[in-house]
Amino acid sequence: TVGELASLMDVNPTEVISTCFSLGVMVTMNQRLEADTLQLVADEFGYDIEFSDADLEEAAEEETPDKEEDLSPRAPIVTVMGHVDHGKTSLLDYVRKANVIAGESGGITQHIGAYNVQLENGQKITFLDTPGHEAFTAMRARGAQVTDIAIIVIAADDDVMPQTKEAIAHAQAAGVPMIIALNKVDKPNANPDNIRQQLSSMNILVEEWGGNVQSQEISAKFGTNVDLLLEKVLLQAELLELKANPDKKAQGVVIEASLDKGRGYVSTVLIQSGTLEVGDYVLAGKNHGKVKAMLDERGKPMELAGPSIPVTILGLDGAPTAGDKFRVFEDEREAKSIANKREQLQREQSIRTKKHLTLDEIGRRIALGDFKELNIILKGDVDGSVEALSDQLQRLSTEEIQINILHKGVGQITESDILLATASDAIVIGFNVRAGANAKDLADKEEIEIRTYSVIYAAIDEVKEAMEGMLSPEI
Ligand code: GDP
Repeated sequence: TVGELASLMDVNPTEVISTCFSLGVMVTMNQRLEADTLQLVADEFGYDIEFSDADLEEAAEEETPDKEEDLSPRAPIVTVMGHVDHGKTSLLDYVRKANVIAGESGGITQHIGAYNVQLENGQKITFLDTPGHEAFTAMRARGAQVTDIAIIVIAADDDVMPQTKEAIAHAQAAGVPMIIALNKVDKPNANPDNIRQQLSSMNILVEEWGGNVQSQEISAKFGTNVDLLLEKVLLQAELLELKANPDKKAQGVVIEASLDKGRGYVSTVLIQSGTLEVGDYVLAGKNHGKVKAMLDERGKPMELAGPSIPVTILGLDGAPTAGDKFRVFEDEREAKSIANKREQLQREQSIRTKKHLTLDEIGRRIALGDFKELNIILKGDVDGSVEALSDQLQRLSTEEIQINILHKGVGQITESDILLATASDAIVIGFNVRAGANAKDLADKEEIEIRTYSVIYAAIDEVKEAMEGMLSPEI
């Protein structure tokens, strides 16, 4: 990508972007460059590029789109998000225990990071078993979007809380459709209408109120209406027409990995397309190895795993990172050589993997014509000022640049805000609030810009200047 090339050559990505521009190629930060362009750009900076066979094969593999007739429907992959104590774990636990495939004894006892359940009608759903939007967005920040549908759990005896809002913002930023689970309706003080009301004031209208967001009242603790919730998940999945080609070498994403005393490195992967078999040679991030055994979430051995199926695999030479992509290679040598190269690349790049947007850079990118949207995450000390600032910032949108407030809230700037900024290339604005220590560290590492203000018009002025000062000259 443009960003990776810039980092390898140790130049500012905007320089690569402008060089591409001068070559007549419009690119953005995360765009992959064609071999010819790569060569030309590297040349401009005095570098030579060598392509190995493995590179070419990898590129060819990624570029071949599946033919329509090779695609089959696949199960939806679901993440459960929501405010702490609103019932995410209870919901995941209930689904895990209640849905037992006919003829199987006992529910799922192992935690492998994801599990697949079959409903009475035979349809399947895969749940990611790490609840919360932090895990969801951490994966996205690594370039892996695995979730198809987000269930937002909201306790009906409580309110729409800060983390509920965050979860909604994270799902929306990812373009993942939501289903609202109004939980704890068994409680005498439950008031689901209160939640519907609060959602509507955030422009989220549930179906009962004439909107297009599905919702379901449930009790996760007692399992009431969880079946109806799952039906809605399947309905949403149908609309998404989720499909994948099962008849090719497997590709997917690492969900979690660890070192097990007896079994060596154990990695849970989620297959996105193709079919994984025991004996396949796998490359996952910078790790590789032959799949010695595959196990499902019940600890049962498997021979084959197709799209949307999570499996634990044994046989890798290390523990890849959650969010790493994996794929099967015909040729063991090739996989090893790519793994080595990645390791080397990572060492060279150290943490300088991605350079994110800063306010100063906006103008240049606008001038290059590749910049259409400015994403902002806004935190403030009181609701009134957050709303006022958000309102005024949005009004700065012009025909050329759309300002999106991805998330706004009261409170200090958190790690979750930085993660969202990383995944969505956003800047973070704090009004009379600062970033916590962890958030600051993460922002430094990910090179996310945090701007703090104590006067509303100072914030407005700076964003406006960034947008105007460097707008492309009229020709
Ligand atoms: P999480 O933090 O979102 O994962 O929430 P948990 O699933 O851990 O639930 C927090 C608390 O709420 C626990 O004590 C649960 O037993 C309780 N709880 C969860 N769902 C329900 C429900 O539907 N009804 C009732 N009465 N309690 C619930």
